[in-house]
Amino acid sequence: MAHLVCVSCKMQMKPEKNGVYFIEYAGFGPYKIWHTDKLKCPRCGATILTGFGDTAIHHHDSIFNDLLELARKQSDTVEEVR
Ligand SMILES: [Zn+2]
Repeated sequence: MAHLVCVSCKMQMKPEKNGVYFIEYAGFGPYKIWHTDKLKCPRCGATILTGFGDTAIHHHDSIFNDLLELARKQSDTVEEVR
């Protein structure tokens, strides 16, 4: 995994949870769903998502709506703000 550092604390971010959904938006609404890893700064508690990989589920994929419903049931899913 890439080294990800909290600039404020000068400490490496530590894994918090693998397999967190990130819902990316376009102008018309939900666009892509990514499976990511959540990291946390051990000092200040700042969190980030990384580990997006090369592929996402796109809005035109047949499983998109089912996955969107599933992702929204997970308390730690992150939806992009537009
Ligand atoms: Zn920090």
